[in-house]
Amino acid sequence: MIKKPKILVVGSSNMDMVIQTGHFPKPGETIIGGEFSLIPGGKGANQAVAAARLGGDVSFVSQIGKDVFGDSSLENFIKEGIDISYVRQNPEQSTGVALITVDESGENTIIVAPGANHHISKEDIGRAEKVFAEAKVILVQLEIPMEIVKACLSLAKKLGKNAILNPAPAADLGGEILEGLFLITPNETEAEQLTGISILDEASARTAATALISKGVENVIITLGASGAYCHSKDFQGILPTQKVKAVDSTAAGDTFNGALAVALGNKHSMEEAVRFALKAATLSVQKMGAQSSIPYLKDL
Ligand code: ATP
Repeated sequence: MIKKPKILVVGSSNMDMVIQTGHFPKPGETIIGGEFSLIPGGKGANQAVAAARLGGDVSFVSQIGKDVFGDSSLENFIKEGIDISYVRQNPEQSTGVALITVDESGENTIIVAPGANHHISKEDIGRAEKVFAEAKVILVQLEIPMEIVKACLSLAKKLGKNAILNPAPAADLGGEILEGLFLITPNETEAEQLTGISILDEASARTAATALISKGVENVIITLGASGAYCHSKDFQGILPTQKVKAVDSTAAGDTFNGALAVALGNKHSMEEAVRFALKAATLSVQKMGAQSSIPYLKDL
């Protein structure tokens, strides 16, 4: 049997509570909505699930509450074959929750209560040092405190590991994060936030990627939605297009892309090959509704 690459994901875990509605309530108004769904989410959890479904041996470092949502998140991770030794249930915090309403036109409103996600601590990272040392690739996003993102990336650097930062949601990053980072994977909005350059075409993507390289990042991939991704590595610079498909829901497309990318790089593929694999997976995901429900399995590719 082929050995799966060890992937470490550090990040958020949420429960998404979604209500369909004819219109959004005004302040003080109560309305009767439509269907309700409870969907596991959070960028960290989504990326861990994507990496596990696409052939990674995944460990997840995260914090959830000791509550009903925390219990069901754990069950979900176990079902996905994710190692939960470093997912801590904090009895003093609630599991992260996103309250989402979606109207008939597909417009949504979202309030996130980060709960335990904002309490991941340096101790949680310290406890996981063994899996940091074992991992082929370490994948981090920005739904956890910035000091923890920094701690993860600096531990990865100390251990000589390849770390991927998916800088989502968009935020300003200090030079200390970018210096020596193996790979950063912004979407167009995040790339603009990081560089001040609007991503309009291949030339502007190259300018933005070059700006990030000049701050010490080794490789840059800018995801471009239906247009694919711009890849900037030593061996390849340019847009890799993706298949034209009928997109029904892009939720977790970026998460699928990052999980897939981590697995392909863990399998020692070149940056270009890894991006092609990630594009295939992410483009499959936009053809299905939902977050984790839309993430494909290796056999689907
Ligand atoms: P999201 O926040 O919606 O999860 P994102 O903004 O982080 O996604 P995008 O750049 O929109 O990331 O998309 C990531 C990848 O998903 C793309 O590189 C592409 O492979 C796929 N994708 C997204 N939208 C489409 C689309 N309309 N058609 C085909 N593929 C798509």
